[in-house]
Amino acid sequence: MTPMKTPLPVPGEILAICRTLYEASFQAYLVGGCVRDLMLGRAPKDWDITTNASPEQIQGLFENTFYENEYGTVGVVTGSDDPRIKVVEVTPYRIEGKYSNARHPDSVTFGESLSEDLKRRDFTINAIAYDPLTGMLIDEHGGKEDIAARRIRAVGYAQERFQEDALRMLRAIRLSAELDFVLDGDTMAGIVAQASQLEKISRERVRDELVRILMSDRPMQALYIAHKLGVLAYIIPELQEGIGCAQNQAHSFDVFEHLMRSLQHAADKGWSLDVRLAALLHDVGKPRTRLWSDEKEDWTFHGHDVISAKMAKKILSDLKFPKETIERVSTLVRTHMFFSDPDVVTLSAVRRVIARVGKDRINDLLNLRVCDRIGTGRPKEHPFRLRKYMSMVDEAMRDPISVGMLKIDGKKLMELGERPGPRIGWILHALLEEVLDDPARNTAEYLAKRTQELMSGSEEDLRKLGEAGKERKGEEDNAAVQKLRKKHHVN
Ligand code: ATP
Ligand code: MG
Repeated sequence: MTPMKTPLPVPGEILAICRTLYEASFQAYLVGGCVRDLMLGRAPKDWDITTNASPEQIQGLFENTFYENEYGTVGVVTGSDDPRIKVVEVTPYRIEGKYSNARHPDSVTFGESLSEDLKRRDFTINAIAYDPLTGMLIDEHGGKEDIAARRIRAVGYAQERFQEDALRMLRAIRLSAELDFVLDGDTMAGIVAQASQLEKISRERVRDELVRILMSDRPMQALYIAHKLGVLAYIIPELQEGIGCAQNQAHSFDVFEHLMRSLQHAADKGWSLDVRLAALLHDVGKPRTRLWSDEKEDWTFHGHDVISAKMAKKILSDLKFPKETIERVSTLVRTHMFFSDPDVVTLSAVRRVIARVGKDRINDLLNLRVCDRIGTGRPKEHPFRLRKYMSMVDEAMRDPISVGMLKIDGKKLMELGERPGPRIGWILHALLEEVLDDPARNTAEYLAKRTQELMSGSEEDLRKLGEAGKERKGEEDNAAVQKLRKKHHVN
């Protein structure tokens, strides 16, 4: 045991739980991810306390607890507003029984000592305990050294540990992506030897690890490692068809590397899971559509957007993604080839693309296009033409300036006594001009009052006012479009 030179920063609520256990003559240690993260200077996602008290004894010591699992974990409710310490998991020392299915232990027994509990943990960096009352670190597997070397190493004999629980192989790769750690040699060898055990892991759990890999800062690196170690075949085997699948002359990379680079760009930008999934899968069907064209003396990939979208649907449903995610991502993949030459494309064609993916998703599609471009190795993220297209998208989505914006309409005008005929349009356009001058005037009361005043005017005056309003509407509309173009730095 070595006391830390500077104690790790532990929130008061956590300290209080440890103190309560300690004062009742029990041991209490922080353990797992939170100790690792504190040592790395990262904010822990959740806090785990391990103790020699039994679940019943833990429950007896705290006012507000719940206990509804087979692992002995008691949730202690702290009353904190911070969602990460609202409920703190307190778990008795555990020894796991025999694993006969590479998934979960046949039985869980409570252990006598901290050492037993640390031994059953997956990686050395996750097997350090910390006593926040004394500042002592209990590091029986060299975790501190591995943290310093930024290395993930299995506790004990790697191959055996992965045989017990195959999910640990995905956890190793996921942790390396999240923490930017390397995998230790023996640990990698253990993964290679046991990769096929991943077949036994439920698709939901594979999905959860995949999502964390994708949402990390380094998904490209992690998926390359997954491929190298033979694990990718148990995550998304279809991706491997792109390895060595050369593309046409516009691309410097094979399909796999193109997908990896597209995905990595989405991560570099901090874009959503939908965009990351779409970037990962947008060309997954390319290898199945590749044909040589003698005429072009190059490869062609006709229909690869359709095939990729179908494959994306199958891949994501197989991984039990929610229906909505599958729908959104496959639509992005299906639409990723949208024609975007701003010199030729019409506003109505832009509207059709928006209608296909949905107004709230059009940004995802544009981001996917950016990923696709960067993924080819072309340096510029927002070339002039794409910016021009984005400006057209804004233009197509903009509500045009019209009498429809008014808080009054022709029907109301007739209720106020106006006869059907051209005068209705003149009055509405005269009102529109007033509202354009001062948007605060756009209230039902004000406009009704003004309508009554305008109605008493002569035919000729009203016509002039109406025409002035129409002209003004055209000017304002142009100005709005100009403003959009300026925003996108296009003219
Ligand atoms: P994070 O909370 O950032 O996801 P974590 O390491 O805390 O990372 P948890 O899933 O919260 O991950 O698990 C808490 C601890 O439980 C781990 O640090 C590890 O010690 C242990 N653990 C989790 N899963 C396994 C497993 N499959 N095999 C062995 N030990 C595990
Ligand atoms: Mg945790």
